[in-house]
Amino acid sequence: MAVKRLVAQVRASEGIAIGRAFVVRREAVGSSEPKGDVECERARFFEALAASDSQIEQLAVADEIFAAHLELLRDDTLRESVEGHISEGESAVEAVEHSCDEIAALFEQMDDEYLRERANDVRDIFARIKANLTGGVRNPFEGVGAGDIVVDSVLLPSDMAMIDFSRVAGFVTGEGGATSHVCIIARNRSIPAVVGLHEALAEIPHGEQIVVDGTAGVVVVAPDEDTLAEYRDRMARERAEREAEREMAHIELRDAEGRKVSVRANAGSVEEVREAIARGADGVGLFRSEFLYMLSDAEPSEQMQAEAYGAAAEACGDAPLTIRTLDVGGDKPLPYMTFPREENPFMGWRAIRVSLVERQMFCRQLRAILRASARGRVRVMFPMVVSVEELREAKACLEECKRTLRSEGVAFDEHIPVGVMIETPAAVFVARALAAECDFFSIGTNDLTQYVMAADRANTKVAALCNPLSEAVVAAIRMSIEAAAEAGIECSMCGEMASDAEATGVLLACGLRSLSVNIGAIGRIKHRVAIALQGGGE
Ligand code: PEP
Ligand code: MG
Repeated sequence: MAVKRLVAQVRASEGIAIGRAFVVRREAVGSSEPKGDVECERARFFEALAASDSQIEQLAVADEIFAAHLELLRDDTLRESVEGHISEGESAVEAVEHSCDEIAALFEQMDDEYLRERANDVRDIFARIKANLTGGVRNPFEGVGAGDIVVDSVLLPSDMAMIDFSRVAGFVTGEGGATSHVCIIARNRSIPAVVGLHEALAEIPHGEQIVVDGTAGVVVVAPDEDTLAEYRDRMARERAEREAEREMAHIELRDAEGRKVSVRANAGSVEEVREAIARGADGVGLFRSEFLYMLSDAEPSEQMQAEAYGAAAEACGDAPLTIRTLDVGGDKPLPYMTFPREENPFMGWRAIRVSLVERQMFCRQLRAILRASARGRVRVMFPMVVSVEELREAKACLEECKRTLRSEGVAFDEHIPVGVMIETPAAVFVARALAAECDFFSIGTNDLTQYVMAADRANTKVAALCNPLSEAVVAAIRMSIEAAAEAGIECSMCGEMASDAEATGVLLACGLRSLSVNIGAIGRIKHRVAIALQGGGE
């Protein structure tokens, strides 16, 4: 067949893979029993629900996304919705299908891309219940050969749990955005992926040779010899680069005065923390706890949070795990919380402002973080702080949680370090006062840049202004580092600027000795730091 080049819009997972397309076929399994009366259909539904529950419980041991699935499965909304349809005379299967469409549609209407993606999690759970109603779950990936590229319209979390990653060279999907589960897993495992091909997916025949260029978001179907030679060349070059970076990833970096330079990672799940440590991160400088809250349709319980944070802390070993308290609101809503409509969401009710109002929810999170601190080097960090009063209020909540845990005889780290994100101009101006009352700073350049430059980070028209290397932003960074140094506390950076190798020299020259970067950038940034330190570039 003639060479075809299919282009996607989403940057999914970098790298190049060449292999045979394994186009997943999903046949209906088993057959449905004839419809019974309401009681009979209700009983069949509860039987399938119980079977799904124990299957997901087993999967949750290996992957925390299934813990979120379990919460969703056990939520009253799901059960009541299906029971409602059954009592209107539908069969259990019909009721499950209708409830699935209704609940998934709620997520699909959300403004936030990440939450829209969660509709797939809903569909995944219902698909399992339906499979249990109609005869059991079959593995559609049987037959994937070594080095194959898995091609499917969507790949759901439970699909990913059935895949043997050691055999898969790449992924291609029709649906999905940059935060879909397939992307997260592919990136974590360094498997090239292209997602979001939409109708063009139909142009990939099963068994045909294809090239997946995850860096460019392109799939080449039936490549000719010249195209193959070009891609093989690039693959070899990229492999050599990655090898060099991997070697750098585990070295210890020290500046001319012998001070350690840390390159930590930004992570959003226990799985990502494990991956980051395996790739040489000196701990986690930013654990975005909001992902845990966004994955489920109800607030994660204190117990569930304590488990997740505790597992992440253990994965870090002797290195720190910096947990940022909930950073939602504004542009990041939660489906189970009511947020006011706001003209300027980025200047609205978000982050620590939400936590200080929703005190009980805040305390449940702080208790979970404290409990996890008995299992590793946990640090707690507050987002969007603008004044010393806010820091004091947040610390008072932390102290209150310590008191109650103490009275309950629960173990925790009495000296858990408390940090502040420097991501507003206000925090920069009062940095000295903040430094006197906390243990570390972490500069959030994503927000700091947009507030200093008065340029919305999501508005492409002002993208050129929203530049962290602008004189004004660098001055704000320098002021924060100096305030921390005067107080003798650590100053780190966890905004995207830390992952930009072009900025490393400037940041070291400003006196920064701790960076927290994307997992994929750990080797690259360590490499850059080593070069800058050797060349006196700092
Ligand atoms: C930042 O603002 O730089 C930051 C790290 O926080 P987020 O990107 O999650 O707002
Ligand atoms: Mg921020």
